Amino acid sequence: MEGRRLARAAGLLAFFLFNAPANAQGDQSTRATSEIERGPRGRSRIALTFDAGADATCFEDLMVDLKKADVRSTFFVTGKWAEKNPACAEAIIKQGHEIGNHTLNHLDLTTQPNLQVRLEIIEADRILRKITGQNPRPRWRAPFGARDERVRAIAAELGYRSIYWTIDSLDSVDPPKSPEFLIDRIVQKSDEQLDGAIILMHVGVRSSTEALPAIITNLQSRGFTLVTVSKLLRPLARSTRTRAKPWKVK
Ligand SMILES: [Zn+2]
Repeated sequence: MEGRRLARAAGLLAFFLFNAPANAQGDQSTRATSEIERGPRGRSRIALTFDAGADATCFEDLMVDLKKADVRSTFFVTGKWAEKNPACAEAIIKQGHEIGNHTLNHLDLTTQPNLQVRLEIIEADRILRKITGQNPRPRWRAPFGARDERVRAIAAELGYRSIYWTIDSLDSVDPPKSPEFLIDRIVQKSDEQLDGAIILMHVGVRSSTEALPAIITNLQSRGFTLVTVSKLLRPLARSTRTRAKPWKVK
């Protein structure tokens, strides 16, 4: 019972942080620029997330695998990728997944001046809305995970919160990984490590697509539900947390 209450408190906190309005004055307070790197524990939920840089290829099998397993995910896509692959970007939304802003050109923002950081986020925002019809805010992931206080403050001013990850599958880190490596990397984590985790994978990586069915099967068989980042951070609905016994007339 205590665990459930704690999980709910953590859920509310994550929800509040995630949905808190960005400070238009660019207040660099810790809250405005704090980032999310995992969801609350105790709810057996995991968010599989997929990043698509400008050069990532489209991903039919990946989408088929997710559909077959009835999994919804969050895709952090660049504006350039969405422009090159509009049908794929649209398919993400049509299949019930959600998008996040992964900037326009996938630059290391920590090396860019303020104006460029702003443009990278704003332009991607505009393109993603136009192509998918979905508002990616407040979901934003820095290219290469490269972000600092300054970059996060700019993102926060624009209504975005940094979504980092709990577990990196390493599918984009050299040398190239085999599907077996990626499967082991994730399924060998303990239930405790996986509970509430945000897992990073990439669009357009063959071994990731090949590893995905086994990863999903393993996580689901251990009782985990695979959800979008938004759902991972959403507080529990009242009906699922009270669980009042139905009153019976004998
Ligand atoms: Zn990326």
